[in-house]
Amino acid sequence: MEENSTNFIVMGASGDLAKKKIYPTLWNIYKSGVLPPDTRFIGYARSALTVPQLREKSEPYIKAKDDEKAKLDSFFAANDYVKGSYTEAEAFTALNDALLKIEKGRKGNRLFYLALPPSVFDSVTKLIKTQCMSKTGWNRIIVEKPFGKDSESSAKLSKHLSSLFTEEEIYRIDHYLGKEMVQNLLVLRFANAIFQPIWNRDNIANVVITFKEPFGTKGRGGYFDEFGIIRDVMQNHLLQLMCLTAMEKPPTSDPEDIRNEKVKVLKAIRPLELSDVVLGQYAGDPEGEGEAKEGYLDDETVPKGSRTPTYAVAVLRINNERWEGVPFILKCGKALNERKAEIRVQFKDVPGDIFHGKAKRNELVIRVQPNEAMYTKVMTKKPGMSFDPLETELDLTYKLRFKDVYLPDAYERLILDVFGGSQMHFVRSDELAEAWRIFTPLLHKIEEGKVSPIQYKFGTRGPPEADKFIEELGFVYSGTYQWLPSHQ
Ligand code: NAP
Ligand code: NAP
Repeated sequence: MEENSTNFIVMGASGDLAKKKIYPTLWNIYKSGVLPPDTRFIGYARSALTVPQLREKSEPYIKAKDDEKAKLDSFFAANDYVKGSYTEAEAFTALNDALLKIEKGRKGNRLFYLALPPSVFDSVTKLIKTQCMSKTGWNRIIVEKPFGKDSESSAKLSKHLSSLFTEEEIYRIDHYLGKEMVQNLLVLRFANAIFQPIWNRDNIANVVITFKEPFGTKGRGGYFDEFGIIRDVMQNHLLQLMCLTAMEKPPTSDPEDIRNEKVKVLKAIRPLELSDVVLGQYAGDPEGEGEAKEGYLDDETVPKGSRTPTYAVAVLRINNERWEGVPFILKCGKALNERKAEIRVQFKDVPGDIFHGKAKRNELVIRVQPNEAMYTKVMTKKPGMSFDPLETELDLTYKLRFKDVYLPDAYERLILDVFGGSQMHFVRSDELAEAWRIFTPLLHKIEEGKVSPIQYKFGTRGPPEADKFIEELGFVYSGTYQWLPSHQ
């Protein structure tokens, strides 16, 4: 018999996140054979469900191949389901009994994934603490956004969690930290001698971090409207990318050292003002197809006359020796012309131009999704007799360079990290508090109705005012760069 037993408990197993993300992720990790031996998966919710029903709900998202059927059977054979309330101690005692039965007197390690609405969060965490903590092994609690709505609500949540669990036990998921190119930032920046000397205000003109989505709310605007694009994407995902781009080299690659450096970046940023942002809201495109005809306010689940932004550009300034004067521009939106997440580092013009303005700015672009890539726009001599500079690129396209390499989904890496006890890619409570400090005054002003978002047409790049704002911050778009179709 194995010495340890590991139990992964999905609280809210009947829900949307569980079927779409958590069970497919657990399956992928399970089939890759990297989990501790004798790991079991226990679903918990109020619905009367069986394991076969859980399987039926999640199988369309699991997408197992035909030849994986036997493995999938064995995955679900490692599953259990316990039905119970979120507020009654007896229900959690029954869950604990079920876990003890599985553990059979062995050392029991337990991971609790809270896939539940925030309304039941307090009682569930309290009851986990009082009824369900393993006394023989470790306990880890995985928490999903939203981590509050502003500084005050987030501090309340953090205080509640820290009254129950140690910081080492809490894993706050920002799934962007599980993405290949985001994890690559540390290596790119600190394992290459060529980047470190130029990574500063002397050479870099601006950094643009972008998230674009080509669809709108798809009729689920009610949920979105409570948060808006700044809370949904910018305050968490884009800010995390910014910290990893801007932070100093940590003394070691230890998770605490890395998170300390990220916090230092945030501490050097002052809270945002309305003048630091351009906000937009999408309108329908009468000539568009399907969803594109509908504007945000046409979504019946969105409150009438809502001013919630679906697009935002913000400029953040890091007041330290490395970055003073360099605008960090965070840009995100829904219902735009493409799907993309990238970090674009734009370098300054070459001083002492001898090419009559024909040399364009260098850019280093780290494309996070889709089609992971990293390219540097560089000038070369136009091949042949000409001596003119030509825009071209040094290009690392992942799917060409690493042909048969499987890039795991962000959730797979992150959940596996929780099994391994690594907090490197999770958000620490002081990081969270700093992030809210920067955004809360702005969010409150937006909510007080102090600004109306600019309308932009579904399927465009967003409001033209945003381009003007970015141009005024010093970003140069020449419109001359061409990516050859043969490279695509
Ligand atoms: P969900 O489907 O609405 O809820 C999960 C389960 O919680 C439900 O199946 C239901 O289970 C129970 N529940 C729902 N509403 C409840 C209520 N008012 N009172 C008590 N129990 C209730 O939520 P979800 O989409 O899975 O999301 C779970 C958490 O992850 C949320 O905090 C969400 O913000 C976050 N999140 C979700 C996604 C996503 O893609 N869905 C992405 C990022 C973050 P029973 O009725 O069976 O008990
Ligand atoms: P680009 O088109 O010269 O520049 C794009 C940047 O300029 C983005 O920040 C974009 O903002 C902004 N922009 C676009 N139109 C603008 C306008 N009218 N006014 C002001 N700003 C504007 O170069 P690129 O995007 O780096 O490369 C062009 C294409 O080649 C892309 O599709 C890229 O994916 C592809 N490419 C691929 C690889 C590869 O796969 N390895 C390598 C190199 C290039 P928004 O983001 O807000 O639109």
